[in-house]
Amino acid sequence: MEEYIDPVCKMKVSKDTPYKTVYKGRVYYFCCEHCKEEFEKNPEKYI
Ligand SMILES: [Zn+2]
Repeated sequence: MEEYIDPVCKMKVSKDTPYKTVYKGRVYYFCCEHCKEEFEKNPEKYI
């Protein structure tokens, strides 16, 4: 199973997570809707 780091809370997340977003051509994975929304509000803060 591939794992990614949630850029907002730094938790490991599976790539099967339903919470993901594409920003500048890269896919970011999140542990929950909350982290996804935080990222989308201010992506530059987290990349
Ligand atoms: Zn998170």
